[in-house]
Amino acid sequence: MSIRTTRGLGQLYPSVLDTVGNTPVIRLNRIAPDNVTVYVKAEAFNPGASVKDRLALNIIEAAERAGDLRPGQTVVEATSGNTGIGLAMVCAAKGYPLVVTMADSFSIERRRLMRFLGAKVVLTPRAGKGTGMYLKAKELAEANGWFLARQFETKANADIHESTTASEILGDFTGERLDYFITGYGTGGTATGVGRVLRRERPETRIILTEPANAALVSSGHAQARTEGGAPAESHPAFEPHPIQGWTPDFIPLVLQEALDNQYYDELIPIPGAEGMKWAARLASEEGILTGVSGGSTVAVAMLVAEKAAPGSVLLAMLPDTGERYLSTPLFEHISEEMSEEEIALSKSTPGYQME
Ligand code: PMP
Repeated sequence: MSIRTTRGLGQLYPSVLDTVGNTPVIRLNRIAPDNVTVYVKAEAFNPGASVKDRLALNIIEAAERAGDLRPGQTVVEATSGNTGIGLAMVCAAKGYPLVVTMADSFSIERRRLMRFLGAKVVLTPRAGKGTGMYLKAKELAEANGWFLARQFETKANADIHESTTASEILGDFTGERLDYFITGYGTGGTATGVGRVLRRERPETRIILTEPANAALVSSGHAQARTEGGAPAESHPAFEPHPIQGWTPDFIPLVLQEALDNQYYDELIPIPGAEGMKWAARLASEEGILTGVSGGSTVAVAMLVAEKAAPGSVLLAMLPDTGERYLSTPLFEHISEEMSEEEIALSKSTPGYQME
């Protein structure tokens, strides 16, 4: 095998914002069963290291196009983290102040990253769940005349997945089989935007939607009560706190509702968070691919689909973010800072530089 060479991306980027999207689709070579081919779309390659960079960029630019956002106006949003990091990156690059409201249950590195990117983070009590975060953001927007990003309701969300995520998938699978597309939902932007396009352009592709087994809101069949703008009127009765950060808030988002109403999925497969953690760990240690619990959960579902899929099937699972975002969470609980017995034995096996 000769040495690998690279040639650069063929352009000089005018801004970090121009590096959003065009994330790679990568084949799994070691953890997938032999009868199928499993690919993952690695959204950690975005500059803010998650799928939410896409939405953050379009929320701001759609508002700029519509004249809804004045130069220097403060942006405010309720977010479990990745949207906040994406918005903080976009607002920093474009010069808008940003205030994020976030329940205190989400990982510490998310808060610190947002603050590092120049945002203010206002914590809300975890008992208030996603609804509490949202109502606090709304209250702050109304009291101060700020621009509320409304990721769970805005058209700018699914639209950007239609024009980027889905169009990248179409491009990368041109002339190739694509039998299954697997995704979870947070806002539902990915599921709805990609669903629109796959239904139109690749009707043979089966779309698998997933959600946490202990917060299976869509599976419950219980419709979401909404206020006039489509925001949730109450917490969904099937919700329970779950470990898959970024997935399934305590309501069914309006953005996802389009996918439900138009049958943009063929099967709904709930998955326990523990499975997601197991598969995120396997992706890291056996494929060298870093992803969070939601990516692990999506791959866990892909493996269930693979068991029943016809030989030769091609599957694509979304990996929404990077594993590094979970260092302080249960995903890394089994990863010690100290040396293991085996590592100590290795240290002692040669004379030099042993620890005291
Ligand atoms: N996983 C993670 C880690 C996320 O942050 C999000 C977005 N909240 C998702 C999955 C779901 O993406 P979407 O909002 O497009 O449904």
